[in-house]
Amino acid sequence: MKSWLTACITMIAAAVLLAGCGAQSDGSVQSDGKLKVVASFNAMKEFTQAVGKDKVDVVTLIPDGTEPHDFQPTTKNLKELSHARLFVYNGLGMEPWADKTLEVVDNKNLVAVDASKGVQVIANTDKHDIHEHGRDDPHCWLSLQAAQTEVQNIAAALAEADPANAEFYRENAVAYNEQLQQVLAEYQEKFQSVPNRQFVTGHAAFAYLCRDFGLTQRSVESVFASGEPSPQQLASLADFCKQHKVKTIFSETMVSPKISETLAKEVGASVKTIHTIESAEGKATYIDRMRDNIEQIYQSLK
Ligand SMILES: [Zn+2]
Repeated sequence: MKSWLTACITMIAAAVLLAGCGAQSDGSVQSDGKLKVVASFNAMKEFTQAVGKDKVDVVTLIPDGTEPHDFQPTTKNLKELSHARLFVYNGLGMEPWADKTLEVVDNKNLVAVDASKGVQVIANTDKHDIHEHGRDDPHCWLSLQAAQTEVQNIAAALAEADPANAEFYRENAVAYNEQLQQVLAEYQEKFQSVPNRQFVTGHAAFAYLCRDFGLTQRSVESVFASGEPSPQQLASLADFCKQHKVKTIFSETMVSPKISETLAKEVGASVKTIHTIESAEGKATYIDRMRDNIEQIYQSLK
């Protein structure tokens, strides 16, 4: 009887051990107890960290400083994904390589999280963009409204992958979204008294931000930061700037500022940096950079 019991306990212990090992090798929980998440780019990482805090370990697939619209995954990326539990991506054509990459990753427990699911999509209007990148403008994380949907989707996925901490993730998502909503409400009120509603930027990444505040963007480069404008387009943009007395031309960190600078010089405007949050910028958080974006646009228009 005793030896039977011992054998039984040994078997259970072995099964538990094996299960433990299995969980580790498929990446659901690391040896430090954290859920391993691969995010496609910086904003997705920020949202995941805001919700998962110390219970997640998040890395970005697209290296910081890389123009994400030109990115192609490497074997190193496949390896990262093979050890992860969640892959958080924006969707809407921001990661056109995602489907094919997930097909070849050897990790049956990897869950792909389409963060933009449920966001009201803005369609591309540029013919070249539609041809090259599909019908959707992917930059929805630059809307404080749409970002809240993304945060909720990420929280739901974390809760499903790690049910023991589901409540923790939900509470963090609610608290974070309250912060986003606060900035949104603050500036929606401020912009009400601004009659000028058009701003000029380098890469047309801000259609969703514009929607939050009833603004319009005019841009030097297309939605996907591809293709410099023709001399005619640049001339018409310069006319537009002069006509609307544009004081500021915005330029992004990863897009060449040259054309923005040329344009600014021609129309007597200054160039200011605006953040697409596609890449990390020091310690500046998503909220820091969104606030900075919106405040700068507000200052340039009021
Ligand atoms: Zn972009």
